[in-house]
Order: sequence, then structure tokens, then C-alpha cells
Amino acid sequence: MRVLVVGGGPTGLTLGIELARRGVGVRVVDKATAYFDGSRGDSLQPRTLEVFDDLGVLDAVRAAGAPPAPLRVHLGGRFVGEHWMAELREPRPGVPCPNPWVLGQSQTEGILRARLREFGVRVELDTALTGLEQDADGVTARLATGEAARFDYLVGADGGASSVRKAIGVAFPGTTDETFRALVGDVTAPDLDLTSGHWFAAEDHPVAGVALTPLPGTGQFQFISPLVEGDDASLETMQAALDRFSAGVRLTGHGWSTVWRPNVRLAERYRVGRVFLAGDAAHVHPPTGGQGLNTGVQDAYNLGWKLAAETALDSYETERRAVAARVLGLSTDLLDKYVEGSADAHKRGEEGYGLDITYRAPDATGVLVTGDRAPDAPLLDADGKHVRLFDLFRGPHFTRLVFGAPAPEEEHAYAVLRPGEEPSREISDGGRRGRGRYVVDAEGHAFAGYAAKPGDTFLVRPDGYLA
Ligand SMILES: Cc1cc2nc3c(=O)[nH]c(=O)nc-3n(C[C@H](O)[C@H](O)[C@H](O)COP(=O)(O)OP(=O)(O)OC[C@H]3O[C@@H](n4cnc5c(N)ncnc54)[C@H](O)[C@@H]3O)c2cc1C
Repeated sequence: MRVLVVGGGPTGLTLGIELARRGVGVRVVDKATAYFDGSRGDSLQPRTLEVFDDLGVLDAVRAAGAPPAPLRVHLGGRFVGEHWMAELREPRPGVPCPNPWVLGQSQTEGILRARLREFGVRVELDTALTGLEQDADGVTARLATGEAARFDYLVGADGGASSVRKAIGVAFPGTTDETFRALVGDVTAPDLDLTSGHWFAAEDHPVAGVALTPLPGTGQFQFISPLVEGDDASLETMQAALDRFSAGVRLTGHGWSTVWRPNVRLAERYRVGRVFLAGDAAHVHPPTGGQGLNTGVQDAYNLGWKLAAETALDSYETERRAVAARVLGLSTDLLDKYVEGSADAHKRGEEGYGLDITYRAPDATGVLVTGDRAPDAPLLDADGKHVRLFDLFRGPHFTRLVFGAPAPEEEHAYAVLRPGEEPSREISDGGRRGRGRYVVDAEGHAFAGYAAKPGDTFLVRPDGYLA
């Protein structure tokens, strides 16, 4: 099978890895002549970290990034205290990554590109899609290089202005608010401590100000401030915004910067025939809530295994469009609070972490049912070594868990036993042959997390949701 992924941002890269690691012939093309170099989506949510674990990039992301830092609040030029956007949580048995992780988008993209290269796929720069036609058997893509190539499927991961979306005539309803703009950019501020974020505002209006949050591994901060006048993302404009609050902070250099307008849109369809939309091509968010990159990565993770197996393709739109609609609501609520200057705009709960995303049918009941995220749990394998459910799930396969009873003779089927529970004859045979055909729930977290009774079976999809 051959798939063309249009766009080499976080969504296209994730999809490229998902397809390439399943042996699909995938090309990833991008119209840019150089890789994007800026912090943009610098907040990786817990569910995205779980996806990255499965893709084999979590260690690199952890090594390059940092946990969220507190904001040191300065009002009228005076330090008044520290503020945490969200309380840091301890890992739980079912949730190994309970907190967001900070890494500039271009660094995350670099790690994903390196992983994609391990499967022999390189992003083809300077290769814009200029047109496409599809019929019952495939899609013909026209590229700026003059090439017209044939693919079984094409995925538009080409950002908010998606040319794929336009080519297949999918509407992108929503709003662009012209009354509010913000200035965002990567800056060097040598006087500021890089181990924390900094908030500068006026004493009489503490919730409307300038935020500088550290960008790990770069020596820079991400600057964000409402734009008072003009449309200029220069260092002078950023310096003037800081000076208004008597910050006494010098900015000495900047890299990527932009002026953004609140833009909230959701594609009416995610699929037309053999063409799919994913990431910003399908939904655009205000950056409040830090959801755009995360939602795009998770779209690609949902679509990749289905496309590779040519199965359940219509469920992609059903499952992911509902998630985007919800996420757009969350980000928009936070944006409204930010524009109003409400303190709630600077508080985060777990609702944006992606851990509660479910694809269950709306009327489903029960503790853990089809469509829910399959939680992690610590276990012991057949050799008595520590192993986690997420270790068993890692890779492109489905995993079957059979609680308290023998598992069938399948490569990725495991009996989950209570401590002391004697593996039956079949289980011990399987343990010898397959190594790890049973696991022991020594601490009881797997039984508890799945609310499992002996004999219960759960089939876990390659993207970690219950089938
Ligand atoms: C200021 C700011 C802050 C943000 N903060 C966060 C955050 O904290 N957390 C978060 O999750 N998200 C955040 N986001 C959003 C995040 O940056 C985007 O959601 C994310 O980049 C979307 O990824 P994508 O791969 O879908 O699209 P993009 O990153 O836009 O990539 C699309 C790619 O397609 C290419 N392309 C376009 N047209 C064509 C064509 N015709 N042919 C070939 N290639 C083409 C482009 O060159 C580009 O490389 C922020 C965004 C901004 C602007």
C-alpha cells in the first residue's frame, strides 16, 4: 500500500511513523524549504506522552524537555510570589505520565523526524501538493516538483490553511476574532532565571500581562502578550510590552515570532473517499489550553493503524471529530477568560490532559467499556521481572488481556493472574513457549484499574483504547 502524507508538522510526522513501522510505503512531503524553527506548541499533554512512549520517542522527549516551571509573578516591577499553572501530580499505577512536559515544537518535530528516518523515510522539503484527483481505486497527487504520483490514500496534515481540505471541498466553519491579537515569540532575556517562568503585569490589573516561559535546551523563553496596537512581531514591540509593566527586563534577541488571532474552526468532514484530514487541517484552536499539537498527534495515532490495516476507516472521523469539538470548547473557554483578564485563564485542571478521552458510544455504561483508554498497571512477568501493561501494549499490535484465566494461543495475549494464583497447565505451557504469556498483578492495580472479574477479557487496540 502507498500513502501520501501532505505536511511534515507534528501530525504528519506521527502518521508517517505509524505507517512506516507497519511496513506501509509512505511519503511525507512538505512545501516548506526548511524545517520549522520555533516553539509554538511547547506543552505536551500526558496522553501525548503515552503516544510518544508507544512510538519509541518518549525517552528522547524527556531528555530534551523539562517539567512545567512555576511562574514568578511581578506586579508593577515588584516580585509578589510564585504561581503554578497546574498542580504537579505523582505518577499513579494507571497513569505513568500525570503531568504535561515542556518542549519547543521544533525540537519535538526534530525527534519525530529522527524516528521516521529510522524507518527509512525522510520528509521531502520544497515539495508542495498542488492538486489531487481521486477515483475508486486511488488518488493522484500533483506535486510542485512536476511529479504526478499515484497513492492508495492521501492524508492532509497540511495545517490550518490546508490545500488538501480545499481540494476535496470540505467546509471549515468557525470564527476568527479580529478584535483580539497576541504577540508570541522566542526571545533571549539574559537577566531572567531560566529555571522558572515570569509574569509581568500592572499592580491594579494583575491578570493581564506578559508571560515569559522557559524553553528547555534553548536558553530562550516563549514570550506571550496581548498586542495593544500595530501588527508587528518585532523585538522592539516585545520590549515595549515588557517596559509598560516596569519589568526592567532586557530582551537581547529573538527567533520565531508571530501575531495570532483567535481562530476556532472544525472541518465538516474528516474523510472524502480516499482522502483524510488530520491535525490543524481538520481543526484549529486558540493556543490557550495548549491543545493543537496534542490533538493532531492523537488524530494521527488514531488514523495510522486503521489506514495501515484498511479497517474501521469511517470510525476515524466519528471518534476524532467529537474529540476536536470538545477540545475546541475547552480552549475557547480559556481564551475568553484570557481576553477578559480572568485569573482562571491561568489555571489548569486535568481536563486538557487527554487522559479522559474516550471513544465509547454515548449511551455506554460501566466502569471500563469499549472505547475507553486502557489504563497502565505495574505487573510481574513470567520471569518475575517488573513489567507494565504499557510495555505489553507498545508496538503496532492489538493486545488481549484475560483476567484470572488462561489466555488464547495468540502472540499478544496475556493471562493476568493474582499473586499466588496457580497458572493453569495451559498457562504454564504458554509461559514456557511464549515467555510472558501470563503476568502477575502483584499489587492488584490491573484488576482494580479494569474493574475486572475472573474470566473478563479486554482487547486493547494498537492506539491503547478498548476494542
Ligand atoms: C503561538 C502558538 C502557540 C501554540 N501552543 C500550543 C501548545 O502549547 N500546545 C499545543 O498542543 N499546540 C499549540 N499550538 C498549536 C500547534 O502549533 C499546532 O496545532 C500544530 O503545529 C499543528 O500541527 P500540524 O502538523 O497539524 O500542522 P502544522 O504544524 O501547521 O504543519 C503543517 C505542515 O504542512 C505544510 N504544508 C502546508 N501546505 C502544504 C502543501 N500544499 N503541500 C505540502 N506541505 C504543505 C507546512 O509547511 C507545515 O510544515 C500553538 C500554536 C501557536 C501559533
